[in-house]
Amino acid sequence: MTTTTTTAVADPVDPADPADPADLAGFDALDESVRADPAAHRVLTGDRPTGPLHLGHYFGSLRNRVRLQRLGVEMFLVIPDYQVITDRDVADRLAEHTENLVLDYLATGIDPDRATIFTHSAVPALNQLLLPFLSLVSVAELHRNPTVKDEIAHSSQAAVNGLMLTYPVHQAADILFCKADLVPVGKDQLPHLEVTRTVARRFNERYPHPDGTTVFPRPRALLDAAPLLLGTDGGKMSKSRGNSIPLGADEDTTARLLKGAKTDTDRRITYDPAARPEVSNLVLLAALCQDRVPEEVAEEIGDGGAAALKRTVTEAVNEHFRPIRARRAELAADRGHLRDVLRAGNERANAIADATLTEVREVMGSL
Ligand code: ATP
Ligand code: MG
Repeated sequence: MTTTTTTAVADPVDPADPADPADLAGFDALDESVRADPAAHRVLTGDRPTGPLHLGHYFGSLRNRVRLQRLGVEMFLVIPDYQVITDRDVADRLAEHTENLVLDYLATGIDPDRATIFTHSAVPALNQLLLPFLSLVSVAELHRNPTVKDEIAHSSQAAVNGLMLTYPVHQAADILFCKADLVPVGKDQLPHLEVTRTVARRFNERYPHPDGTTVFPRPRALLDAAPLLLGTDGGKMSKSRGNSIPLGADEDTTARLLKGAKTDTDRRITYDPAARPEVSNLVLLAALCQDRVPEEVAEEIGDGGAAALKRTVTEAVNEHFRPIRARRAELAADRGHLRDVLRAGNERANAIADATLTEVREVMGSL
């Protein structure tokens, strides 16, 4: 039995912009509409180059990206390098992290011939789009954003910088420049996506084309089966919080990290995410790797306690990621190829961003 169906397209409601029923359709409906006309859709997602991708990325967003690409949808992957310095003073080992993201994408099945993988800093038009977009949101709206608040709480900086506060608006530019309508993300990104939708709606209202058509789509978030995978400390698994299990970790490291994962003292293993978040998170992880339902995995471990649970999860993770890790090791041997993929992606992203910027300048009446 499978647990890996993708859940609903979640769409937090902007009171001025309630989600229409189509936005709340399940993945099955989406799957059908995408299959019927893949060329009518575009996907954009991205990951900050702050460290290696982890299991939360894989079960929260990467799998959906690969699925959508296989359905024939055009794929854009932004590596938002300027956004690294939203919560720290210096972007450490930027080139290495950027290359490793490309490596993780290719290893997990993103086809570089059909995807545009680019860095934010290589596409100057994105920062020009940012300026009119910033005029469309109030400072109070930016302050209210719960994800910005969470990121500020985990920031290594004493004071909040302007880049952090405006993060969701940069993200709006990253998504809207290519007119993406589907954004496979984790739950933490929903408030940001709401800002993108608000920016798109307000821009379209304020600056329609003379014939009444509008410039931007209102993109939808697509959540996967693990929209908020927890890390080994029980908080959101994050690259920057020292609590993650990297996709590319070797089997012994995976075992060691999982051995240190937080659990509880009840020997009976159950799947109860509300009452037992950490144990349930490990059960879910094993279930996702084995393509089973979590309740069945918990039942099988029964009274085995945390040690048996961790053994099961370690085996499941290592088994599931073995082919991906092998492919990753092969690809890692050719760093030049990774750079070529990025170079081609930057070129293509620039062409598209320039065209969108021209359109934006036109509807705004710039000479
Ligand atoms: P950082 O700690 O540097 O912010 P991160 O692990 O939070 O890193 P991001 O680059 O911020 O990763 O997020 C990239 C994408 O992965 C986003 O769509 C985000 O929602 C998703 N994502 C990140 N962490 C998780 C998680 N634990 N579970 C599910 N999805 C996640
Ligand atoms: Mg993050």
